[in-house]
Amino acid sequence: MAEAKYLTFMGPIAAGKGTQASIIARKHGLAHLSPGAIFRDAVAAGTEIGLKVKNIVESGYLVPDAMVNDVVGDVLLRDHDFKRGFILDGYPRTMGQAAALDEFMAGHEVGLDRAVALDITEDEAVKRLSGRFFCAKCGQTYNDDFSPPKVAGVCDICGGKNFLRRADDQPGAIRNRLAVYRKESAPILDFYRARGILIEINVTDIHRDDVTRRIEEAIA
Ligand code: AMP
Repeated sequence: MAEAKYLTFMGPIAAGKGTQASIIARKHGLAHLSPGAIFRDAVAAGTEIGLKVKNIVESGYLVPDAMVNDVVGDVLLRDHDFKRGFILDGYPRTMGQAAALDEFMAGHEVGLDRAVALDITEDEAVKRLSGRFFCAKCGQTYNDDFSPPKVAGVCDICGGKNFLRRADDQPGAIRNRLAVYRKESAPILDFYRARGILIEINVTDIHRDDVTRRIEEAIA
């Protein structure tokens, strides 16, 4: 089979889904679309969508399906060349979204090649999150303990020097997001497993580079 081009990355908070999605997207020339990042940008910019989702995103609940499906569909149609392939980072997150995605992709005569599901124990998730921060300019994520920038205080990707921590990386929101993921995503994992496209990787004791290697093997 040719290299997989249409991928979704799933995983609970702190499993490194966004980090791996950006590494793989860059290396393989795929577009990278993260509804979570789109919503955070919208909240920061105070747009109409941002005002609607601010409380939901910051408390760790899911944005309603109809709104997420519209945002993903709009961005894919506006910004991405379908022929190039893409990684959906954190979408779908409910069965309703999975069904909408199938329909949308079928309308463009493509289909998902692989669903990459990263998993992590709850203790490890909490440990990792306490150190997470990201570049204010390009969004690249880092971790004080596991993956700091190569040069302290300077973003590896864009050279930015301002870093932020996410509003939803607070203890209450963290617990909520873990519970929401387990509940909502389990049926989607079964759905993609039955289709034969699910790749599951438990990242708890694995170095980030080895996770990348395993994903690359799975999509080759
Ligand atoms: P993430 O950066 O993927 O962890 O997403 C951050 C937050 O954005 C989530 O906790 C949700 O509030 C919202 N969000 C992102 N993706 C989705 C989605 N597919 N469905 C519903 N809400 C989402």
